[in-house]
Amino acid sequence: MRLVLLGAPGAGKGTLASSLKNKFGLTHISTGDILREEIKNNTPLGQEAKKYIESGGLVPDDVVTKLIEHKFLNDKQTELGYMLDGFPRTKQQAEDLDKILVNIKLPIEQAIYMEATLPVIIVRLIGRRVCRDCGELFHIKNKPSIKEGVCDICEGELYQRSDDNEETIKTRLDVYVKNVTPIISFYEAQNKLIKLNADNDSAKLQENLIRILNEDKKLD
Ligand code: ADP
Ligand code: ZN
Repeated sequence: MRLVLLGAPGAGKGTLASSLKNKFGLTHISTGDILREEIKNNTPLGQEAKKYIESGGLVPDDVVTKLIEHKFLNDKQTELGYMLDGFPRTKQQAEDLDKILVNIKLPIEQAIYMEATLPVIIVRLIGRRVCRDCGELFHIKNKPSIKEGVCDICEGELYQRSDDNEETIKTRLDVYVKNVTPIISFYEAQNKLIKLNADNDSAKLQENLIRILNEDKKLD
């Protein structure tokens, strides 16, 4: 399976990706995760990306597109199937991505559009906690860790992302709304779009997606 996950911050792309990854052995590629790793390691790219991320704006298209190209050219696991999460975020990124993937003969098969309503999104983002070591996602109400502040998987420390505050969330959502329509049209025109109600909890969402992929005989 070669998928892109589309949806607002808080729609549940990362959570869905992390469960599909284990079920189907797909490579999960999150530009947000790659950029946060660069920031953590204080690389020149990380220093550049930090200011955009902390303000809730987008990192320039050419920077993120190069990161993605690099990932596909260097990680052979992607040949077995992948899920892109948080990329593309602009029409330009979608077009450049298509060129890269067609070139390496790993074109996208489906674009999963996860539609969630604003109140659900806000609650998810404000309560989100992330493991500093393995990146596992938790939520203070919807998916609390067994021990408060400690990752169930690796015992790493859980933290709240600096861009998960009310003001930056508002900017991120504005940026999302401004860019999403042409991306949706782009995949609709290629007959690749699958829409999911992302107000559903993660188990239901996953069940619905697997049912749709099965009906379309996309899962063998
Ligand atoms: P979320 O989907 O919750 O907003 P991400 O981890 O996907 O979180 O992204 C966090 C931030 O990283 C974005 O607000 C943006 O600044 C930057 N970023 C991630 N992916 C992209 C992208 N494809 N293009 C530009 N900026 C990106
Ligand atoms: Zn962890």
